[in-house]
Amino acid sequence: MSQVSPRPRPGYPHRAYNLDRMVAAVRAHGTVTRAELERITGLSRATVAALVARLIGDGVLREVPADPNTRVTPGRGRPPARLALTEAAGLVVGMAFGHGDLRVAVATLSGDVTAERHVRLSVDNSVEVALDTAAREFSEILRETSHQKGDVDKVVVGLPAPLDRHTGRIVVNNILPGWVDIDPAGGLGERIGRPVIPENAVNLGALGEMTYGAGTGKRDLVFVKVSTGVGAGLIFDGRLYRGTNGYAGELGHVQIELNGLVCRCGSRGCLETLVSTPHILAALRPMHGDALTVADVVRLLQAGDSGASRVVGDAGRVIGRSLADMCNVLNPEAVIVGGELSLPGGALTDGIREAITRYAQPGVARAVTVTTGTLENRAELLGAVALAIQRTARSA
Ligand SMILES: [Zn+2]
Repeated sequence: MSQVSPRPRPGYPHRAYNLDRMVAAVRAHGTVTRAELERITGLSRATVAALVARLIGDGVLREVPADPNTRVTPGRGRPPARLALTEAAGLVVGMAFGHGDLRVAVATLSGDVTAERHVRLSVDNSVEVALDTAAREFSEILRETSHQKGDVDKVVVGLPAPLDRHTGRIVVNNILPGWVDIDPAGGLGERIGRPVIPENAVNLGALGEMTYGAGTGKRDLVFVKVSTGVGAGLIFDGRLYRGTNGYAGELGHVQIELNGLVCRCGSRGCLETLVSTPHILAALRPMHGDALTVADVVRLLQAGDSGASRVVGDAGRVIGRSLADMCNVLNPEAVIVGGELSLPGGALTDGIREAITRYAQPGVARAVTVTTGTLENRAELLGAVALAIQRTARSA
């Protein structure tokens, strides 16, 4: 698709220029009404109506039903239809590596996810195998949806580790030992023939929940993921905050015990050494046996097992104690809890909420809503889609 010029080039038909402006406006806003298009483009109602009719006729735009939650004002009739881009206007692909799997999604530039794939895969093994698998899944999802790689505007890949934001490389420590100092986005880009943008998966979880999940409509939020590690994704004024070199939100490495256990980061007594899933499992194994898995703990929590609820609730209170400090500094509107053990109305979120209420300043605690994420294990994938759309809109 053509790029939008700041003004019509000589010999470039005005109508084509205005059509491009309309497409760019929808791309930047996700979905818009005709009235919003008039305001954004400054074109008249009649011109907008004619251009929208043309774009719908060409299959580039489609009308989507108004949000059923929109309040209908008596006497004003139904809310106006919104316009969204179709697959014909371009696509994005989101990918997210977990420690044990890979998820891939295709979406329109208005954010409609049209296909998803999920495969088991351990990123703790070979990088080459992981990237080959990702490239195969990319081809497969395009084949499934009858698209060519040239239809894809942007690809974002999430990796379960902090990345240096300038190099896109995983540089620290032993979180993903086999991936250190490798350029995963470059390697994947070479395989699929499209440029790939890498991002820390927990940051994508935050964007995913803000765009599609529990944080919809919120602009300042902290997404905390409790898994084999503990990490936080920060969003200020609707945008990801990565820190100067990409390590913002490393909540798991806040020191809790001066002389505590040595952490995988090399420090001592980090939050992760007390409350990540391996430590939660270790606390429950004397009661439930050495074969206990995270999935078993989820089942115990769902069944209301008092031991599991207590251990996970206590972990939540320890995490919440550190999050309370973070809330005092950042004053977020929402804390959204993700990871395998975060169940709706569950002990983990309850424990975190309790500690934030207890330890944050009263005004800060009153302002923040602490909830469980609603996207479960798709948060990072949908965040990859959201970031790819943001990057497409910005480069337009
Ligand atoms: Zn640490």
